[in-house]
Parts: sequence; structure tokens; C-alpha cells
Amino acid sequence: MVPYISQPLSRHNLRNYAFQLRKLLHMENQLYFPVMEFLEVLPDIFPQLSWEIVEDTEFSQYVHGETDILNHYIKIRQSVYDGACEGNGRDRMTVMHEIAHYLLLCVNGVKLQRNFDKQVVKAYCDPEWQAKCLAGEIMIPAHLVAGMDLFDVIEKCGVSWDAAAYQMRHIS
Ligand SMILES: [Zn+2]
Repeated sequence: MVPYISQPLSRHNLRNYAFQLRKLLHMENQLYFPVMEFLEVLPDIFPQLSWEIVEDTEFSQYVHGETDILNHYIKIRQSVYDGACEGNGRDRMTVMHEIAHYLLLCVNGVKLQRNFDKQVVKAYCDPEWQAKCLAGEIMIPAHLVAGMDLFDVIEKCGVSWDAAAYQMRHIS
């Protein structure tokens, strides 16, 4: 069951948003998105936000990060942080995913409501899908990777095989 429902956002909307963000950062023409540098300057851009690295033992093994939208707080697991700093694609995407939650809910003000009556929620209204989609769109920019070889996407965007393959399936 999806605990929250957010206002609908399509992949098209999120792709647009990713492009605007990259443009704002003057990164619309580069494949590699420097997630960790972005994380580093995020509190300068959004002064309310803070983030911290937490010991792996603080989280259950399935939780890699957490974004607290009420307190403007991002927590990242130590091993994920280390992996992302070393350029591990999966960990980089995890960090981007948490940032994506923040961008959507706190910066863009996407409305969220509790799924009280346990409705079946469509992907485009699921905050998890939206964060996953936006993170993928930021890390693997559609306008640059169209027609590229999968191996090149993995290497040049610094993402995992799974993320690259998934994203390429959504680019025509
Ligand atoms: Zn999430």
C-alpha cells in the first residue's frame, strides 16, 4: 500500500523539470551529473535544508536514505555516501533520489495527502515513483542520451546498468 498520494506528475513533466534544473546549473550539455557536489551546495541554494550522514546501523538494511520534508532534512547512510563519493552508480542514484524528494515536495511544493482509504495509487501519483523518475531524468538526460549505446550511458552518466537500461526504455 502506498502511504501517500501526491498530485499527478507525468514523466513528461518530470523530464521538463530535470532539463530546467540542469539549465539553471549550466549542466544541460554534460552527461555526468555531479550529485555529490550538488548535495554539498544544496544548503547554500536552499538555506532551510540540512543533511547528514548517518551510521549504517541507524537504518534498517533496506533503507538507504531518508528525506524529512517537514524539517527539511536529508539523511544518507554512511555506506551509500561513501559509495557515491567513489562514483558507484547505484549509490549516486540513491543520493539523487533523496534530493529529488526534496526538490519535488519542498522546492516545487508538490501536494501530498495521506492515503487514508488505502486506494490503489497510480504510478504518476506515487511520491516514490515521482522521485525515482525525476532522479533518473536528472542523471540520464533524455535529450543527450537518445540513440546512445547502453554501455556509454552507464559510463558517461555514472549510473548502474539497471538505471541506464530502465531509462533507455523510456526514451524513444
Ligand atoms: Zn524515496
